[in-house]
Amino acid sequence: MKRFIAAFLLTISIISLSGSIIYAEKIPEPGSRGLLGDITYSSDEIYEQVHIKATGYTKYSSEILDSPDRIVIDLKNVEVPAGQGSIKAAGALVDGIRYSQFTSDIGRVVVDVKKGYDYSVGETDTGLIVYVCNEKAASERNDNNTMIFGRSGSIKKTGSGANEAVVIDLGRFESYHISRRSDPEELVVTIPDARVFGTGKELDVEGDMVRYVNYQKSGGTGAVITIGITAQYQYSAHGTDQGLVISFERPSYKNIRYNNNYDRVHFLIKNVSLTTGTKNLKPLYTYSRDRMGQVYTITFPSSGADIGEGMLDIGDEHLKSFEVRKNDNETTSFIFTGHPENDYVVFTRDSGDTAITVVRPAPSDRKLVVIDAGHGGTAIGAAYGKLIEKELNLDIAKRLESLLKEKGAQVYMLRSDDSNVDNYERVYIANALRAGLYLSIHHNGTKSNKTDGTMTLFCPSSKPGFTGKDFAKIIQEGMLSALKTTDRGLRTRPDLIVLRETHMPAALAEVAFLTNAGDRARLSSDAFRQKAAQSLCDSVFKALKRIS
Ligand SMILES: [Zn+2]
Repeated sequence: MKRFIAAFLLTISIISLSGSIIYAEKIPEPGSRGLLGDITYSSDEIYEQVHIKATGYTKYSSEILDSPDRIVIDLKNVEVPAGQGSIKAAGALVDGIRYSQFTSDIGRVVVDVKKGYDYSVGETDTGLIVYVCNEKAASERNDNNTMIFGRSGSIKKTGSGANEAVVIDLGRFESYHISRRSDPEELVVTIPDARVFGTGKELDVEGDMVRYVNYQKSGGTGAVITIGITAQYQYSAHGTDQGLVISFERPSYKNIRYNNNYDRVHFLIKNVSLTTGTKNLKPLYTYSRDRMGQVYTITFPSSGADIGEGMLDIGDEHLKSFEVRKNDNETTSFIFTGHPENDYVVFTRDSGDTAITVVRPAPSDRKLVVIDAGHGGTAIGAAYGKLIEKELNLDIAKRLESLLKEKGAQVYMLRSDDSNVDNYERVYIANALRAGLYLSIHHNGTKSNKTDGTMTLFCPSSKPGFTGKDFAKIIQEGMLSALKTTDRGLRTRPDLIVLRETHMPAALAEVAFLTNAGDRARLSSDAFRQKAAQSLCDSVFKALKRIS
């Protein structure tokens, strides 16, 4: 017997992937209203219990409030025949229970409690039951592998080694959704309508496959369960009498990793060449898209590609799944199922690895700002002692990102961590995004340690309208007035790929010289780097105004 109607919400509407999950409440029969019946209090060695008899409610929710501490439970479409009243409890934690007709439609039960309580709510055949126990007792009842919700619910890790699973028993919920996160590897199980819920809990499993499990209540009766896993496992989920069982297996493909923790959502495939060249990029694959636009397939010769085959369910706002499939004719296909507006930027790096970046092109209003923290990974840029250019670039880029976002700008970070991205790859991503501005952040180094100051680079363009030179001018003036550094001027650099090949106005800020003692002292100050980011932020907004 299946206890769940397990539905991937993705199949209902792929457009609402990132949106909130909406679930239907029961529709009342016309003219029929539920009744709030007897409320009784009892206690045993662990729990104080409040039994709430109720019929015909279409939805219920709970929240906790303080000053005074209380648990509030609302039942929708319910009449309280007695109007309002209260019940004395005088328990160790439960002081009393009050009930009332909160609105014409909502019956409310308030459980007054003392500090240091833990609670959970579950649904019974006759209504609801609220379990209250000592916070400490509740955490003692949980061990590393099991969290307990009252007498009727639990989340636990079962099995060992390759047979580890997480079993979620939160009653007869109607739907759930599982999405994947990378770095740290996690699966997030969202249950909009758990029938058992309580306060936040955590398991420190440290298993072979499962590292931890976190439970958070979400909304009235929703649950969000985060499962930390030790690698990018494929999973399967199915309803059983014990609950929703999520089990894991190593993906049968290899040398492929999906990264969705930052703006640049991408697959990194080791030692597989799918393109050659740079400016004149030649694909070594063919591609197709299905009629609905959701399935994008890349096919290439299997020879030389040591990747096997297999499937990865993803369920984030970009992709539903990814599959590596070997075809009969000595070819292999990557099958991406996801948002119909996705574009896939395929680029084989000098290292021989291929990155496939999943891109959602911006609207054509040219408001998206691409921030390029120069260098990264094995490309460290300039260096002097402990000061490394790639780190300074990223530091200022991240400060700039948060300043821009605070002011409502649309931002895309080409890298948010210490990863390699080739220069042409940066360009192709920015172009595919249809960004309005491209700002690259660098620091300078030179043989003469006397040279200091700030410069901004651009590539000359004969395009009409706002150009890279216009953008560079704004950037340079902004930095000089904020930083009071030596003016090294605007520089024409048609040789720089990120300036020449980008389709939008692009500028490259060289904030200061790592090789100069004065500039180094400035750069080692947080306040200076923040000022640099602030000036870049102001300049970006000036430029955006000029574009629109
Ligand atoms: Zn640089």
